[in-house]
Amino acid sequence: MTIHYRYLIVGGGMTADAAVRGLRKVDPQGSIGLISAELYPPYKRPPLSKGLWLGKPWEKLWYRTETLNVRCHLGRTVTALNLSEKSVSDDVGVVYRFDKLLLAIGGTPIRLPFGEDDVLYFRDLSDYLQLRAAVEKKQRIAVIGGGFIGSEIAAALAVNGKQVVILFPEEGISARLFPKDLSQFLNDYYRQKGVEVRPGCSVTGLGRHNSKLVLTVQSSTGSESIEADAVVAGIGIRPNTALAEQAGLPVEDGIVVDEYLNAGHPDVYAAGDVARFYNPSLGAKIRVEHEDNARTMGELAGRNMAGERNLYHHLPYFYSDLFDLGYEAIGRTDARLSTVADWQEPYKKGVVYYLEHQRVRGVLLWNVWGKIEAARALIAQPGPFQPQDLKGRL
Ligand SMILES: Cc1cc2nc3c(=O)[nH]c(=O)nc-3n(C[C@H](O)[C@H](O)[C@H](O)COP(=O)(O)OP(=O)(O)OC[C@H]3O[C@@H](n4cnc5c(N)ncnc54)[C@H](O)[C@@H]3O)c2cc1C
Repeated sequence: MTIHYRYLIVGGGMTADAAVRGLRKVDPQGSIGLISAELYPPYKRPPLSKGLWLGKPWEKLWYRTETLNVRCHLGRTVTALNLSEKSVSDDVGVVYRFDKLLLAIGGTPIRLPFGEDDVLYFRDLSDYLQLRAAVEKKQRIAVIGGGFIGSEIAAALAVNGKQVVILFPEEGISARLFPKDLSQFLNDYYRQKGVEVRPGCSVTGLGRHNSKLVLTVQSSTGSESIEADAVVAGIGIRPNTALAEQAGLPVEDGIVVDEYLNAGHPDVYAAGDVARFYNPSLGAKIRVEHEDNARTMGELAGRNMAGERNLYHHLPYFYSDLFDLGYEAIGRTDARLSTVADWQEPYKKGVVYYLEHQRVRGVLLWNVWGKIEAARALIAQPGPFQPQDLKGRL
């Protein structure tokens, strides 16, 4: 069977929905097909590790993309991209021809080399449903990974009365992102909330003993076993580049796109978590795994597919909630850079600036709201900035 669409989107995530909306703003009628490996039409991912655990209504999850005159092919995985025929084919042999194609295929969780069936890699709605069902019956949950997903899931489970142990090799929660003292504060804060925090721990094996899962954990003090009823992991994703690679499109930790979001072919675009792009304010190619990028880039890709010529120069921000704490961050919030902290109240409210060569490369707004635009403008400035120039700046 062969189907033709004027616009074909591979992927059913937040980027795909934004692309449909961008397309429809420019072309209200052209046919749009969306192919997603997931069984659900596009929905918001952030509530999976936050709002849904705090009673946010299920109905608010959905984008309702299918109401925009789009045909969704759900539960279908695209397995090949043929650029000379301008077609893709899926896992049941259907061929979809396109005039314009968007690859909004995101990433796949990195897996541990053990515990195949016993670790839940948290990424999508089916993972949320599986975890929700599991924790109905299970009390002690081990969370592997102290980054973005691990820290959110640990907080969500603790708020829901679960006994949580979070294990990660770094010294503190989100240590790759936050300055050391803030990350250490988070370790203590999680402990106050009842979470068992185990920094400096690498999980090296997983077995079973009676009905319990048993993690083998290495730390500076040696090896030990930790029991849990269920194990969740959030240890990063790898961008899904296989289709692009196989078709000969440029790939470099993501599908490389130009400023118009073309992926090395005039009729093929990529956006969202999978896309690597040049950002002028940072003067570097980046790939961003966050909502603002997915939504803004997705919409722009849709508009450009429908004939506009917009440049993607947006510097995306991201946000997270950890118990009662919340933050927004923009630019390179990389703990390896030098940082200047400007606290109104230590670790409760303040701004952290990340500097490199006397330029502000990133800004962390810790319980400070409404300052993203000002932070973005600061990152675009050439400087030079000294630490004292930044106190009270935002
Ligand atoms: C639990 C969770 C919480 C988050 N919370 C926040 C937050 O608080 N703040 C924030 O800024 N960001 C957050 N993010 C990040 C944000 O949700 C992502 O950046 C965004 O969802 C990326 O969207 P995407 O569509 O580019 O990729 P994905 O979400 O990965 O979607 C890719 C889609 O493509 C499909 N697909 C892949 N390969 C194929 C194929 N070959 N054939 C067909 N379909 C395919 C997948 O099934 C999926 O539907 C969170 C992410 C997660 C997982």
